[in-house]
Amino acid sequence: MNLELSADDLAFQQEVRDFLCENLPERLIEATRLTTTVFVDREITLEWQAILARRGWAVPSWPVEWGGTGWTPTQRYVFDLECYRAGAPRLVPLGLGMLAPVLLAFGTEEQKRHYLPKILSGEHYWCQGYSEPGSGSDLASLQLRAERRGDHYILNGSKLWTTHGHFADHIFCLVRTDNSGKPQQGISFLLVPLDLPGIEIHPIITMGMSHEVNQVFFQDVAVPVANLVGEEGKGWSCAKYLLEFERGGGSTAALRQHDLGLLKTLLADMRRDDPELDADAHFRKRIARIEIDITALEMSELRVLATIAAGGNPGAESSVLKIATVDIEQRIHELGIDLLGHRALVFTNDIATTAATDTGLPALAAGFLGRYLNGRAASIFGGSHEVQRNIIAKSVLGL
Ligand SMILES: Cc1cc2nc3c(=O)[nH]c(=O)nc-3n(C[C@H](O)[C@H](O)[C@H](O)COP(=O)(O)OP(=O)(O)OC[C@H]3O[C@@H](n4cnc5c(N)ncnc54)[C@H](O)[C@@H]3O)c2cc1C
Repeated sequence: MNLELSADDLAFQQEVRDFLCENLPERLIEATRLTTTVFVDREITLEWQAILARRGWAVPSWPVEWGGTGWTPTQRYVFDLECYRAGAPRLVPLGLGMLAPVLLAFGTEEQKRHYLPKILSGEHYWCQGYSEPGSGSDLASLQLRAERRGDHYILNGSKLWTTHGHFADHIFCLVRTDNSGKPQQGISFLLVPLDLPGIEIHPIITMGMSHEVNQVFFQDVAVPVANLVGEEGKGWSCAKYLLEFERGGGSTAALRQHDLGLLKTLLADMRRDDPELDADAHFRKRIARIEIDITALEMSELRVLATIAAGGNPGAESSVLKIATVDIEQRIHELGIDLLGHRALVFTNDIATTAATDTGLPALAAGFLGRYLNGRAASIFGGSHEVQRNIIAKSVLGL
C-alpha cells in the first residue's frame, strides 16, 4: 500500500481545504468543540449535512447513482482528515452510515428510492432500535413482538438506549416475528415512523448529565408490512451487516488526531501558567504512545477502506478497529482529566464556557469532563469490548 499522497490527491486535499475555509461556519466549529456527547445535536449535523450535500459531498461512501462521490479510499481519508482538522462536526451516522448501507444491500428498489433521498436531504432523521431491557450483548434474545395482522405488524415492547430517539422521526427496529426456532431466526428488520399512535419516548440522562439516549415504548403500534427490509425472519443478516458499518470502516484515526490536537493545545495553554508541565515526562510519554497508536489505527483503517472500495465489507476487522479507536479516545479523555486535575470538576454542560472564564483555565478546558464521562459508553455501545474480543477470537483467530 503506497501511503504517499499522489499529485492528484494533493490537489484534492487543497480543494477540500478551500471548500472548508469558505463553507464551514465558525458557529459549527464552536458548537462541535463544546459538544460532550457522542454525537452533535440534530440541528448541527443537519446544517453541516446540507452544506456538504450542496457540494455533493455528504455521503462519500454511497454508490454514485445514489449521491456518493466515487472517491478513492485515499480521497475519503483525506476528506475526513481535513474535516476533522478544521473542527467540522461529525455527521450523525444513524441514517447516513448505518441504515443506508442496509437499504442498499437488502432493500427493494422502491425502498431505496423512497428512503435514500430523504436520508440524504435530512428530511428523515433516524435512530436505531436494536437493544432492549435484557437484550444488549445478547441481541438475539430481543423480544419486541411484531405480530402479523393482515398487511400490518402490531408492535408491543420497548427499545432501550436509543441514541437521538428524541430528535428522530423514524426508527429502524429489530423485531421478533417468530419465537419458534433459534433466537436469530425469528428476527425481522422493520422501518417505523415515530409519529405512529402507541409510541412513547422517555429520556435517559447519562452520568455526563446529557440527554442523548432514550427508552422507546411500543403499545399496539401498527406498522405496514411494506416497511419490512429483507425477508421476514431474516433480519439478523441485516442486523449483523449494519453492525459492521457501525463498528468500523470509517476514518476515525483522523478524528482521534483532532482530539489529541485539542489536548495538546490545552496543554500548551496551561504551560503558560505552569511551566513545569513542560518538563513532565509522564505526560509527554503518554502523548507519544497515543500518537503511535493513532498511526497504527490509520494504517488499519486505510486497509479496510481499500477492501470496501474493492467491493468488500469491513468484516470482523471492524471489531479490531472499534476496540483500537475507542481505547485511544478514552486514553485521550483520561489524559485531559489528569491534566486538569480537580479543576475538571467545575465543568458541567450548562456552565462550561463561563466556568472556564471564572477559573482562569483556557476556554478549551470546558468539555473535557463531559467528554470523559460520556466517552465511557464508547466501549459499551455498538457491542462492548468484551463482545468484540469474542468476535475476533472466533472470526479472525479461529479459536
Ligand atoms: C451511550 C449509549 C448509546 C447507545 N445507543 C444505542 C442505540 O442507539 N441503539 C441501540 O439499539 N442500542 C444502543 N446502545 C446499547 C448498546 O448497544 C448496549 O448497551 C450494548 O450492546 C451492551 O448491552 P447491555 O447494556 O445490555 O449490557 P450487557 O449485554 O448486559 O453486558 C453487561 C456486561 O457484560 C459483558 N458481557 C456480556 N456478554 C458477554 C460475553 N458473551 N462475553 C464476555 N462479556 C460479556 C459486557 O461486555 C458488559 O461488560 C447504547 C448504549 C449506550 C451506553
